[in-house]
Amino acid sequence: MLTMGAHSETVVPASVLAPDEHGLQAALDALARGGLVGMPTETVYGLAGDAYDPDAVARIFAAKGRPADNPLIVHLADPEELGRVAAQVTPLARRLAATFWPGPLTLVVEAAASVPTITRAGLDTVAVRLPDHPVAATLLERTPRPLAAPSANRSGRPSPTRAEHVATELGDAVALVLDGGPCPVGVESTVVDVRGTRPVVLREGSVTREQLGIEGTRQAGEDQRSPGTRYRHYAPAYPVVLVARGGMGAAVAALTPEERTSTGVVAGRSTVDALPPGVRVIAGYTDEVDLARGLYGALRSAEDAGVTRLLVEAVAERGVGRAVMDRLRRAAAPH
Ligand code: AMP
Ligand code: MG
Repeated sequence: MLTMGAHSETVVPASVLAPDEHGLQAALDALARGGLVGMPTETVYGLAGDAYDPDAVARIFAAKGRPADNPLIVHLADPEELGRVAAQVTPLARRLAATFWPGPLTLVVEAAASVPTITRAGLDTVAVRLPDHPVAATLLERTPRPLAAPSANRSGRPSPTRAEHVATELGDAVALVLDGGPCPVGVESTVVDVRGTRPVVLREGSVTREQLGIEGTRQAGEDQRSPGTRYRHYAPAYPVVLVARGGMGAAVAALTPEERTSTGVVAGRSTVDALPPGVRVIAGYTDEVDLARGLYGALRSAEDAGVTRLLVEAVAERGVGRAVMDRLRRAAAPH
């Protein structure tokens, strides 16, 4: 996806290192000291620290400004570790781990007593996943214990999908950021409760209900949500307006000339190409997969561009498009 916009940040950016032997070793040293590292994953960049070190985990909460009642996802190097983190591994948990790991599916299981309370925000469950990214995989293999790694943004900000997003936003709260390039998925993992016999989706993500085999079904506990979904996902400084598919031309035509110069647009590529001159195109996408990859970066670009409002053309609610629309509705909710 093409995005436009300049950066204007106030913190001193953290160093961004290539994930070569030097970079990896520096990251491992920092983690061993209880420090934090920006870690690329296939979904978004994570703010990684030793999941079993309460001081490191406290640093994660502080760096993010994350409410203490919003638990962290614990990242594993190997599916076998699930048995150590969970008090009980249900057949459903085992089956979904075997099917989707490594990958963007987070399983909520009954927590083993050894998982620090702070990591799971006092709950008797813990969220776990095994990321599908070579840099995360290498870090996890070379650390002695699992890593807690929530998205590496300040609470209420868009998740970071590029190393520089983390470096500029978190500054010296991280020892360094490993640059794994742009995240291939771009939206967060799907969170499912797997303590019963059927998965209950607690947060929409890039693994779809279709893939989980629960498309269109009502489940017991359907109204349950992850603690994190209680918080505004992203409260931009500008209002986000969702425009129906095919409706962008009319939405732009309805703007006054002054409004037009300060309104940003994110829309399908062909829509963007047909817009009148003077419109501030923030990004054009080819499909819902492309928008998923570029969405958070586009929200940041719109902010950098100083738009007074952002019009975003909806995508099809299929596949990852469902998670994209979930995030967009949150961003567009009145605040
Ligand atoms: P993030 O890593 O920033 O994408 O946030 C992790 C998400 O997983 C948040 O929405 C959390 O509320 C959710 N989560 C983490 N642990 C649990 C848990 N034990 N039960 C339910 N949701 C969880
Ligand atoms: Mg997050």
